[in-house]
Amino acid sequence: MSRIYLSLSKQSGFEMEYVEKALRSSWITSGGPNVNDFEVELQNYFGKDSLVTALNSGTSAIHLALILLGVKAGDEVICQSLTFSACANPILYQGATPIFVDSENETWNICPDNLEIAIKDRLKKGRKPKAIIAVHLYGMPYKIDEIHAIADRYEIPVIEDSAEALGSSYKGKKCGTFGHFGIFSFNGNKIITTSSGGALVSNSNELKQKAIFYATQSKDNAIHYQHSEIGYNYRMSNICAGIGLGQIKTLEGNITARRNNHSFYKNLFKSIQEVELFETKSEDYFSNYWLTTIVVNSDQAKYSNYNLMKAFEEKDIETRPIWKPMHLQPVFEKYPYYGNKVSEKLFECGLCLPSGSNLTDEDKDRIGNVVKTFFNK
Ligand SMILES: *Cc1c(COP(=O)(O)O)cnc(C)c1O
Repeated sequence: MSRIYLSLSKQSGFEMEYVEKALRSSWITSGGPNVNDFEVELQNYFGKDSLVTALNSGTSAIHLALILLGVKAGDEVICQSLTFSACANPILYQGATPIFVDSENETWNICPDNLEIAIKDRLKKGRKPKAIIAVHLYGMPYKIDEIHAIADRYEIPVIEDSAEALGSSYKGKKCGTFGHFGIFSFNGNKIITTSSGGALVSNSNELKQKAIFYATQSKDNAIHYQHSEIGYNYRMSNICAGIGLGQIKTLEGNITARRNNHSFYKNLFKSIQEVELFETKSEDYFSNYWLTTIVVNSDQAKYSNYNLMKAFEEKDIETRPIWKPMHLQPVFEKYPYYGNKVSEKLFECGLCLPSGSNLTDEDKDRIGNVVKTFFNK
């Protein structure tokens, strides 16, 4: 029996063709025809108002979004605390200060009440936040209407971290198209992958050209290499974009597969009262269910998320605690935080379950058996 992983990708079979085309044409560099084609595919997916810049990671996309919003040393940027560190690190790359905000219980994402408390308090201190980074965690859209109403009221731009939410939508509109910038990741564990890669979504060609300028070392318009601004090596490579062109053909199928995984878990846990499945609470929300996650709650210590994780590990099944909030991380704990322990509690009791696009019926049987044995069902 082979190990069941948390989030494996699935190939369409066309990846090799595009990569080979790149190799044969000697376009083995950053940028190139596959990169342009991949951007067009993504633009068609998001709709005509979305301009896509393909980059070498989701982290670089967040960094460029901050640069394009003019975030500089000494500025403050509000960031959802319950997220992956890649979301907060670029704030520090700019020498800015992260201001962390707690989650709410419904979507596990940035809490509107605490967001407004944070903004008001920063304003009182004479420090208007330069941007808000909100996350669609595990594919679940954040409270878009509430968050954007607050951001608009205080005129603070939103960076929408959609790294985990390609294919998710809110009221029929795709995640990644609501903010001033949307960012995506095509890392190996995401719903589609380019091995490593990312994308920045904006709504103007001017911003896209500016993003490409910074992503390719900020070369001025001159015959020699001349630079008036700091540049970065952030463009996606033509080889990686070839993988992406093959992968994008799997997107709809992967969303269906991951949503089916979620239905399997919903059924599995329906009679286990210690487990609460994380799911959409209204028809307005459509999650790609990138990862299915649960909260394990019991007065009996033996039924803890960590013991369940151990039971899975004994059967060679990979699970993972949910993200440790940024305000609890040694590297970030000195920065301001506004909240009331929602993300702490989720971190203490949550667990991410195997959710790969390739999960087979046999895998599901193995997972089901661990759960039933563990809870004595
Ligand atoms: C994966 C991820 C990123 C970073 O993407 P990379 O492509 O790995 O740099 C950022 N934010 C979140 C929420 C992620 O899950």
